[in-house]
Amino acid sequence: MKLSVIVPCYNEEESIPLFFAEMQKVNDELPLDFEYIFINDGSKDKTLDVLRSLAKNNSNVHYISFSRNFGKEAALYAGLENATGDYVTVMDVDLQDPPELLLEMFNKIQDPDIDSVGCRRVSRTGEPPIRSFFARMFYKIINKIGQTEMVDGARDFRLMTRQMVDAILEVREYNRFSKGIFTWVGFNTIYLEYENRERVAGETSWNFWSLLKYSLEGIINFSEAPLNIATYGGMLSVFISIIGAIFIIVRTLVFGDRTSGWPSLVIIILFCSGINLLMLGIIGRYISKIFLETKSRPIYIIRETEKDLKKLTIVK
Ligand code: UDP
Ligand code: MG
Repeated sequence: MKLSVIVPCYNEEESIPLFFAEMQKVNDELPLDFEYIFINDGSKDKTLDVLRSLAKNNSNVHYISFSRNFGKEAALYAGLENATGDYVTVMDVDLQDPPELLLEMFNKIQDPDIDSVGCRRVSRTGEPPIRSFFARMFYKIINKIGQTEMVDGARDFRLMTRQMVDAILEVREYNRFSKGIFTWVGFNTIYLEYENRERVAGETSWNFWSLLKYSLEGIINFSEAPLNIATYGGMLSVFISIIGAIFIIVRTLVFGDRTSGWPSLVIIILFCSGINLLMLGIIGRYISKIFLETKSRPIYIIRETEKDLKKLTIVK
């Protein structure tokens, strides 16, 4: 039996050797052959060199180097597409996904009724409080308005059967939000809980804005609720304006036309045009997704893999 370990890397030259060493320890304790698929997601540091030498010295290490930074989602997809194992796991290279948990995950997945074992961090120590607050909000909102459940604190770190991986590969959308896709494909997933870890080396490539953008992505990819706001908001505003019109007509007939109330009129116009713009904006977000989706561009572009290593050494 073979386990494919998929590891997206973006500027991780320091973490990769530490990660690999930890994984070797786990490998010794598991009755599985390990196959590593590192994805160099357009790193600007020496990540690619580290991967090249790792692949040169270990026949079970493969790497895929992208032509530029395509994002972690694209890296995950590339890894899944190239994995050949009977089981597949997806892990961060910064050791925030504890490798030793794989032992327990593997025990759990032996149960034929379980197709996937995920990990859920129950604490968020070491994270800025604002970030934790918004993360919690995101899960509350998405689970309220979305049709696909997303587990709070669940990481991408999970062990999956080949059957489930094949299902995920069938989802070929360009706008990928893995947390949602993992749930959307169904199958039986259980979650192990653990305390949050901080990364061993390097630094996170996410800032507040990129996380905010990412969470909006999740909402728009997995929920049509924002579009409903436009429909129901529009209906409500039409209803109110009809009532208002009746009120004004009756008032004019009874009391005559007094040209007062301009300020309130201006406020109403401003409010309505504001709502209009907001709704157009929401619809625009969806259209932009459709736009990208219909172009059907490749999710990632490969520049180099370990198969090019021989060629490289000949040139050098
Ligand atoms: N990563 C990637 N492409 C990116 C950003 C991140 O492949 O554009 C990888 C990164 O190397 C790491 C994982 O995704 O292995 C998680 O990233 P990070 O640790 O920065 O995120 P955090 O743990 O802070 O959420
Ligand atoms: Mg991390």
